[in-house]
Amino acid sequence: MGFLFGGKKKTGESAPVAIAKTPAMTPPVVTRTDNVGSPAGAGKPKTIGELKASGYKTLPIREEMRRNLTALIKAKKPIFSGIIGYDNTVIPQVENAVLSGQNIIFLGERGQAKSRVMRLLIGLLDEYVPVIRGCEINDNPLSPICKSCREKVAKDGDNTEITWLSRQDRYGEKLATPDTTIADLIGDVDPIKVAEGRYLSDELTMHYGIIPRTNRGIFCINELPDLAERLQVGLFNLLEEADIQIKGYRVRLPLDILLVASANPEDYTSRGRIITPLKDRFGSQIRTHYPVTIKDEISIVEQEWQRFDDGDMKYYVPDFIKEIIAEITHQARRSPDIGQRSGVSVRVSIANMETVVANAVRRAVTLGEKLAVPRVTDLPYIIASTTGKVEMEGFEEKNEQKIIDDLTKRATLMVFNKYFQFDEIEPIVRQFNGGFNVETSESMSAKQYLRYLKEIPGMAKGVKKMTDAETPEIVASVIEFVLEGAHLNKRLNKTRVDGKTIYKK
Ligand SMILES: [Zn+2]
Repeated sequence: MGFLFGGKKKTGESAPVAIAKTPAMTPPVVTRTDNVGSPAGAGKPKTIGELKASGYKTLPIREEMRRNLTALIKAKKPIFSGIIGYDNTVIPQVENAVLSGQNIIFLGERGQAKSRVMRLLIGLLDEYVPVIRGCEINDNPLSPICKSCREKVAKDGDNTEITWLSRQDRYGEKLATPDTTIADLIGDVDPIKVAEGRYLSDELTMHYGIIPRTNRGIFCINELPDLAERLQVGLFNLLEEADIQIKGYRVRLPLDILLVASANPEDYTSRGRIITPLKDRFGSQIRTHYPVTIKDEISIVEQEWQRFDDGDMKYYVPDFIKEIIAEITHQARRSPDIGQRSGVSVRVSIANMETVVANAVRRAVTLGEKLAVPRVTDLPYIIASTTGKVEMEGFEEKNEQKIIDDLTKRATLMVFNKYFQFDEIEPIVRQFNGGFNVETSESMSAKQYLRYLKEIPGMAKGVKKMTDAETPEIVASVIEFVLEGAHLNKRLNKTRVDGKTIYKK
């Protein structure tokens, strides 16, 4: 763990951040449908004959990914861009799994970027690969497996049309639920085709499920332990024997698929949730984790949180506010009051950041201020963005509000004590001896705080320590942080009346 917040940090060093619209998350992955009409074929062979003449060699998916990964490593190019904090843990293991051609299962609690890592694996595929035009299961033009394509090639030979499939279209994903069926995953017989007079045993009556449709691609199954046992058996047979029984008919499907799965570690290791032979098919079991450092947690929040353009109004989030938000999540991950089985996602930090900024924006709009800066008094609002994402334990004594308040206090104290020594707050506290008190509130304008710089000896110095900015909104936020820090160090009392906070001795 690195040394994160050493030395003097100035929250006002950079100008208030202009608001940039950035996509918050990667776009949703569309599981592929048919490859008909792909526009990718420009300049590429259009028939099997042209493909053969071009000397093109098709590779099994594992060899293709392995070759591309090796090239990326050699070129020192990033393989999983946007993934923070996994450089020395998860990523080398994923690379080893790809280099060894193994199916992968990711074990981790929620919000550990499992899905994102899985989706980024498509970056290891060729940009385009040739498939027989119109094939539902992306048949390799040089060795088709479906009956329809085999018949087509037998009839049209080298004139058989091909098309080019992009890497984005070679990814399929399914969330396992107890009601997932064989038809969803592998396929079913198609009653319409049967009605057309075909024999039921004829493979042409098959309506393919998502796995065959991801042939020559990466198929990801989330929450694998939720898959019914007979489906696990079906999946195993498909991988092991390359064939599958559907409604009593045996269909041979030698698919070429990299299987990736995810699971909560407790579900995966609990007896009976996964059949052993299927477990054995995952050569690599990779444990994901939450950001180890506050710095990584903040980097992820900064990458992901949703920003809006409010025109003239800007916002600025002081570093200590970011640190408190990240620290609240880290505290929650160790708290006995919070269920650790499903974990505390990084999404809690992201949503809490959005919430405190929203409250600052609401205040700025209400008061007609041009700069929205979150304050300590905005933190209680994170209850809305936290409670739905964590599981509370032991309700009988503590309610949710109390649990989150306690986490917030602990986090604020820890961050404050990183910046301030005891003797630095002493002159500030001394001012309160003769009955002096200070009022703060999330709805008080920033300018109203500025008088405390003059009235409280030591306050100006304390603010200076945190920021060079003289912008009232930033100064007000720091003043609150200092007062709250003195209170949490048991140097000042605090009472809350009608939405106002009074600090006194
Ligand atoms: Zn086919």
